[in-house]
Amino acid sequence: MNYCLLSIKRTNVTVQYTDSLIKHLIKLYGHKEVDEKEADAFLFSICDVTEIHDLVKASNIAKKYGKPLIAGGQFCYHFKTVLLIADIVNIGHIFDFMECKSIEEIKNLDCVYYPGKDKIITPSYRIDWSKIPIIHTNKKGYYYWGGTGCKNKCRFCYVSWTNAHIINPKARKLTSFRKGMTLTIISNEYSDKASEKNTCIRVKDMMLVDYLRKEEKVKNIRVGIEFFTEASRKYMGKQISEKEILSAIDKSKKDGNSLKFFFISGYNTKQEIIDFIKFLPDDTESKRKIRLVFNNLEYQMFTPLHKERKKMNPENYIDVNWVNEVYNKYILAKKYYIRTVPASNPAHAFCRMGMSWSFTKEQLDFWMDKDREVNRTPLRDLDYNKYYEYLWTSKVIENEYFANEIKMPWKVLND
Ligand code: SF4
Repeated sequence: MNYCLLSIKRTNVTVQYTDSLIKHLIKLYGHKEVDEKEADAFLFSICDVTEIHDLVKASNIAKKYGKPLIAGGQFCYHFKTVLLIADIVNIGHIFDFMECKSIEEIKNLDCVYYPGKDKIITPSYRIDWSKIPIIHTNKKGYYYWGGTGCKNKCRFCYVSWTNAHIINPKARKLTSFRKGMTLTIISNEYSDKASEKNTCIRVKDMMLVDYLRKEEKVKNIRVGIEFFTEASRKYMGKQISEKEILSAIDKSKKDGNSLKFFFISGYNTKQEIIDFIKFLPDDTESKRKIRLVFNNLEYQMFTPLHKERKKMNPENYIDVNWVNEVYNKYILAKKYYIRTVPASNPAHAFCRMGMSWSFTKEQLDFWMDKDREVNRTPLRDLDYNKYYEYLWTSKVIENEYFANEIKMPWKVLND
């Protein structure tokens, strides 16, 4: 097949990796990467809902040349939304797709869907690790795909509920890499078994319990704490105790690690966030910084949390101003080691949900318009409550997937 890969806005390095990997596989499977005029089909990888604006641009190009636009990538489980723009969608991994030699063969795959196809979709979970290269993305950086899914399945986590937990065995065995170069393993494995001896890794995503287990030499450690009370963490599937959080802070000073703790706001009340910050120890000596990174919650489709979307409380969502106030009041004078990285305005989270929950052209056009409006409005002028209200008035809050439309190896969808 002659494919033209459309990459319109590629700033994120993981996305660059994905495009490079697709180009590599096009060749490896005996297809050709060609320019627009020679293409049998156009390919576009959509990893995140915000790339839907680029998908529209890709669709305009495909229409101009009269050839189908085929979308793949992590966002494609939302096939009803993607098919409002693309002609064909591949759900899951790309290896079955790459083996096809014609559009007809592609259309016959169980993981492929197009308007009018009358069959339950079964996402493709097959990965041929022997075909995955280490890819040079910038001057000193290399990226390597280490796995999909996660050994946990937190209630809110789209990645873990849409992917099987599969490990690249070669990434685990990697013990060294080119001198002076950094290697990032892309995975959610969160295990120190993955590449534990590889000294080129500078940033490591870990489960807190793994971090506490033994001395950690990698300087930058990223840990998802996610919620602000023990009870909410337990409910969401991240059973992290307050005692473990305090132990991790102590350990980071001993081991010389810079910690980034990731949090999801929007579920706990603002008072619970303040109580958590007050609970962190006072310390005006330590030079080792801990960054608290906040993101606002999305009730994502395909996760158990999506079933609770109608209980979402916009009062719990936080913005930069609120985080700065909390920083000045509870952190600045007493906890020198803490820095905060605020969540973007809640309107962004509501637009992301609005776009990814859209099942009709009218809904999607409305939400893309709202997303553009939010992106061009100064933060101080954004009234985010009205975007929450739109989730109801546009009726996207009613939309859901059913098990008779898409078959996952685990039960999350409504029967
Ligand atoms: S540990 Fe992280 S990646 Fe794994 S399921 Fe939970 S949130 Fe998702």
